[in-house]
Amino acid sequence: MEDIKSLQLDELTQKLKDMGQSAFRGKQIYTWLHKRGVKSFDDMTDISKDLRQKLQESFYINTIEEVTHQESSIDGTRKYLFKLRDDSYVESVLMKYHHGNSICISSQVGCRMGCKFCASTIEGLYRSLSASEMLDQVYEVSRLSGERVSNIVIMGIGEPMDNFDNVVSFLRIISSEDGFNLSQRNITVSTCGIVERIKELADLNLQITLAISLHGSNQKVRESIMPVAKMYSLDQVMDACKYYFEKTHRRISFEYALISGVNDKEENIRELTELLSGHNCHLNLIPVNPIKERDFAPSSKEWVYKFQNKLEKNGINVTIRREMGRDIDGACGQLRRRKMLREEL
Ligand code: SAH
Repeated sequence: MEDIKSLQLDELTQKLKDMGQSAFRGKQIYTWLHKRGVKSFDDMTDISKDLRQKLQESFYINTIEEVTHQESSIDGTRKYLFKLRDDSYVESVLMKYHHGNSICISSQVGCRMGCKFCASTIEGLYRSLSASEMLDQVYEVSRLSGERVSNIVIMGIGEPMDNFDNVVSFLRIISSEDGFNLSQRNITVSTCGIVERIKELADLNLQITLAISLHGSNQKVRESIMPVAKMYSLDQVMDACKYYFEKTHRRISFEYALISGVNDKEENIRELTELLSGHNCHLNLIPVNPIKERDFAPSSKEWVYKFQNKLEKNGINVTIRREMGRDIDGACGQLRRRKMLREEL
């Protein structure tokens, strides 16, 4: 059985032609799946019973099931735990901002990148998500919440560049005019810095925003908290960013989780300035979200502001990420982890 929701419009159209159907059927079915979000072939009311039967014999429509959600009483952030067809779990988060709602989705079940401060990677990678499983997170969160979605960030569980083909399929389908029709400019893909994939993505010339998880101002700090840095040096990552900007003209966003005593010293400010000056980019500071398995602590609030000020004085474009959903296991991967540990949700 083939996963019909992961097919691009042209692929679906071709398959229908191969089944002896006329070309417009592809678009009709694609619209049912991606614009109207139907979960069964029987809901496709303008498709003949005979064709629905045939579709059912060759394809399945992926669905995901809400297990639970938590809502922040501080800012209304909602975190959903979803069960997939093979009974594995992922998280998605709805964040409400003044400028619109943003959904943060997962790209893998678990992660094999091993960042020391991250809850999603503790048990390693189980598997990558299909395009349909990423699409369904968006469709389900918007359906369940009844909220309009204006932005998507792929910053949930997993490393999107370790699931390259499916993530690219997802990006093409979610931004398709015949589907959910969300502008690529409103989508951010975050990576820990897999250099070949950043270049490959650049060559596709999509209009998405690329976010790089920097978290260290020099090779040594980066290596000490992100094992992936041993494979791809900071210099290589910065070169790949330059290439990405030259190809796409999209400004890069750098993520920097401030960890007290690890990457938040005066020298880190100097190094960050040197590293980022001259790059058309934006730096996002996030006080690290402590997880109970590790003893990393965030920098103090006052120091985070000072850190920002000092960088700004040096001409760097810096913002402090608003912490969303502090009261609901804010850091990604924690809800799934609690489920795996069979804690009461
Ligand atoms: N694997 C991708 C995307 C998922 S993580 C990546 O590494 O970019 C999304 C962001 O959250 C990354 O910048 C990641 O480094 C950061 N992050 C993970 N755990 C965190 C924590 N405990 N506190 C703050 N940021 C964290």
